[in-house]
Amino acid sequence: MHVVIIDPSRVVQQKLAIELEATGCYVDCFSASDLALQYIESTRSVDVVLTSLELEPIPGLELCWNLRTFVGDKRPLHIIVMSSNTSERALAEALDCGADDFTVKPVRREELMARLRAANRIITMQRQLVEQAQTDYLTGVLNRRAFLATMEEKRRELDASDNLALCLLDIDRFKSINDTYGHDVGDLVIKTVARIAGEEAPVVARLGGEEFALAFPILDADQAAHWCDVIRQNIAAHEFDGGSAPFHASCSFGVSAWTANEPLSLALQRADKALMSAKQDGRNRVQIAEKPELVAA
Ligand code: GH3
Ligand code: MG
Ligand code: MG
Repeated sequence: MHVVIIDPSRVVQQKLAIELEATGCYVDCFSASDLALQYIESTRSVDVVLTSLELEPIPGLELCWNLRTFVGDKRPLHIIVMSSNTSERALAEALDCGADDFTVKPVRREELMARLRAANRIITMQRQLVEQAQTDYLTGVLNRRAFLATMEEKRRELDASDNLALCLLDIDRFKSINDTYGHDVGDLVIKTVARIAGEEAPVVARLGGEEFALAFPILDADQAAHWCDVIRQNIAAHEFDGGSAPFHASCSFGVSAWTANEPLSLALQRADKALMSAKQDGRNRVQIAEKPELVAA
């Protein structure tokens, strides 16, 4: 576990750090609460914050509140408050400000270890829940909701001038695969398409049924279309076991460029239009969407 200790006293920091490191924890220590806050915000590997309340420049309770607000419900973070004030009011205040647990100073080793074991159980469970909520059960790739959130995050991470290409992929005549070979073989085709797409595309999501979304950060639509065509060929070349005889499946692709100044839904609409035209033009092909109309400045 990655633990951040925040305490004004270096002696306290060192004593706790030695105990935690002896159990295999990775530990960072801070005296200044503003630096600790910055570090935890930017370091996703931090699992547990063990903090005093008597801190500067941000008071301990405010720090707990800031941390809780920042991590939201997507990032598991367990906050344990250490205080010599054992009043019920102090305990209630700490918990109301976003702390998960409370321990009395000076902290006793056995008690701290037991609290960290409990923290570990809770964090592991939270991680599993977050992962399940983001994953498509059949293929293991992102689901629709996670794709939309991931894309908004990617767009924020990139510079406004950076390219980001999107693609919608739909398996061709999938209904007839189901009808001919059965639903289980259909499921296997969906899983195989997800796997093959993931060999080339940095982001793969199943939007539903036999439809996927791919994303290619930094690439323009032409470059992304090249990789989509590699995926298209690899899928078309794959031989599926249909029981009595092997068979092949194919996919159609619609590619669009998502610019920084438009909503994601518009770029997806353009990709969808391109996908429709790939279907109309005979399927098993990659179609690039028309560029969005330039809005006069
Ligand atoms: P097109 O080339 O125009 O895309 O034709 P299509 O047959 O692929 O499209 P259509 O939308 O008519 O059929 C999609 C089928 O996908 C219908 C539905 O029963 C099937 N399907 C949806 N979800 C699943 C799934 O999870 N597993 C399986 N095996 N089939 C699914
Ligand atoms: Mg289809
Ligand atoms: Mg479809």
